[in-house]
Amino acid sequence: MECATVCKFCSPILLSPRSAVVGKRKQQLSNHTKFKFCYSKFKIQAIHSAQTHLSSEVAAEKSQSSTDFAIGELVWPSPSDEIPFWKKNFPSWGVNPEVPVDIKKDSDPMHIIHITAEMAPIAKVGGLGDVVTGLARACLSRGHTVDIMLPFYECIQKQQIKDLKLVTTYNSYHDGNWIQTNAYHGVVSGISVIFIEPSNQFFKGQNVYGGSYNELEAYLFFSRASLEWMQVTGAQPDIIHVHEWQTGALPLLYWDMYHSLSLKKPRLVLTIHNMEHYGECTQEQLSKSGLDGFIYATIEKAVDDRTIGHNPERLSLLKGGIVYSNAVVTVSPTYLKETLCTGWLASTLIRNRDKYFGIVNGIDAAMWNPATDIFLPAKFNAQNPEGKKLCKYYVQRGLGLASDGILDGNHVPDMTHKVPLVVCITRLVPQKGLHLISHAIKRVEELGAQMVILGKTSDGRVEREFEGLAKLHNQGPSIRILLMFSEELSHMLYAAADIVLVPSMFEPCGLAQMIGMRYGAVPVVRKTGGLADTVFDMDDQSNHEMANGFVFEGIDEGSLDSALDRAVAHYRQKPDEWNGNVQKVMELDNSWNNTAGKYIEVYNSVRVRL
Ligand code: ADP
Repeated sequence: MECATVCKFCSPILLSPRSAVVGKRKQQLSNHTKFKFCYSKFKIQAIHSAQTHLSSEVAAEKSQSSTDFAIGELVWPSPSDEIPFWKKNFPSWGVNPEVPVDIKKDSDPMHIIHITAEMAPIAKVGGLGDVVTGLARACLSRGHTVDIMLPFYECIQKQQIKDLKLVTTYNSYHDGNWIQTNAYHGVVSGISVIFIEPSNQFFKGQNVYGGSYNELEAYLFFSRASLEWMQVTGAQPDIIHVHEWQTGALPLLYWDMYHSLSLKKPRLVLTIHNMEHYGECTQEQLSKSGLDGFIYATIEKAVDDRTIGHNPERLSLLKGGIVYSNAVVTVSPTYLKETLCTGWLASTLIRNRDKYFGIVNGIDAAMWNPATDIFLPAKFNAQNPEGKKLCKYYVQRGLGLASDGILDGNHVPDMTHKVPLVVCITRLVPQKGLHLISHAIKRVEELGAQMVILGKTSDGRVEREFEGLAKLHNQGPSIRILLMFSEELSHMLYAAADIVLVPSMFEPCGLAQMIGMRYGAVPVVRKTGGLADTVFDMDDQSNHEMANGFVFEGIDEGSLDSALDRAVAHYRQKPDEWNGNVQKVMELDNSWNNTAGKYIEVYNSVRVRL
């Protein structure tokens, strides 16, 4: 029995007789040394490419600042094109690999390793991917060493990874077996990434989520395999930053297993991006990671409070992560307040209030920059907004939306100016206010405006509902509903939009409104979570300085109408004021440059110096 327990705790290497242990250790060390060698080489490369990149970025900004485009050079798309305009061959899919280097460096640099289920742009489903990449790049540019550990999903396009190399082959425990696992290293968007690839079926499939393997077990495996990799290679970061329920078990594994092996230095930070998913888990499932699931089934540890007294009781990996991390962050101050007041995890968060922080997400100002965005047919910025009109006309033509009139020199037709274009780019899940999104279609038509929805869902019922709406509207002049995920098209839509709609029922932070603003789209949002922290109503006389969009509170259609109607009326009746606000929202700094420092403060508050 003792042996069985130990087996789960230590890789077979550590269980072997002494001589074998020494032999294997040497091998581990040589792997480690090899890795370290590659590692430092990668760092040099990353820094080098960052520098060259910066100059190209500055050059791009400069060349764009005149926004001297010739309209005649654009090839106008049409809905009948064999290849849709957003699927063209773009020069480089991996948006802006450069990490800005002109940022002031922090005085006491750290080594931070993010362990995450998503990373933009290679494995992005929603905001989690954007946030991990954006925060990592911001910390990198402030002088810290940052790595990301990510499952090597089969669906990741390898050509988007620079310098991909196998660096370590090792075994990691799962459900009574030691699974042979490969760790690859590569560079994505200027960040060093370790890809964990088990030799079993985990992470196989066409999408990041929803493969035909048990997702909970796969992420339990990934959590342990990430720590095992650190143990094998001797990595001792200052901070292990885990995200969401998928890596919620890692702090348990760290403190109750790896900390008593060789990992001494790291401290754990958990970011909760969305409390809706809490990693429901049985004791038996947790035991598959090598921990004893039974001992976590207490109110102080990881039991799901709602199941107390049920047979069986359940665990929550997110709760376990909250309890066992040194610091917990959620993605906006308002969402922090909401989570302390509502939901079953509130009591756990209140108990852990001293280490719980609300830090609003940022956007990556280099990846989301209309002045350099490779996906845009014309670039623009707050001082030179002309390119935005072209982007709108381009999208209207490409999607077959009404854009009557002819080009007059460098001027797009009048109709493009007169008809406001609303975009909604979202995962189509109840959280996002599905009933309000479908209502908005009707309202936008009634208002004589145009709307494009870019949405992806994995729920058959929602898919059918929106397919029905698409069938009804997509041949008409003013509505397009596109049921897919497209990074390229999302950039073009933000650039084309006059209004970005985010009518969420709840929204921990929300990036769409911030990206929209950077691209000159005025937000119409429901007042909840991070939306309440970033969008302020234009008609609120008491807060004129902050005013930047249109806000509603209720969850009913009438509430949405009140904000949408005001936005459309404003667009039509007060064009100068509208344009002034467009310039204002483009100049707002909602980037990580503004907020990464708050994460650094949290890291510094928990790190130890051995
Ligand atoms: P969430 O994380 O809940 O999905 P956020 O607003 O925080 O919501 O982040 C969503 C991110 O995903 C944004 O970058 C948005 O542009 C992107 N996104 C959402 N749906 C799509 C889609 N169908 N196609 C392309 N990008 C999308």
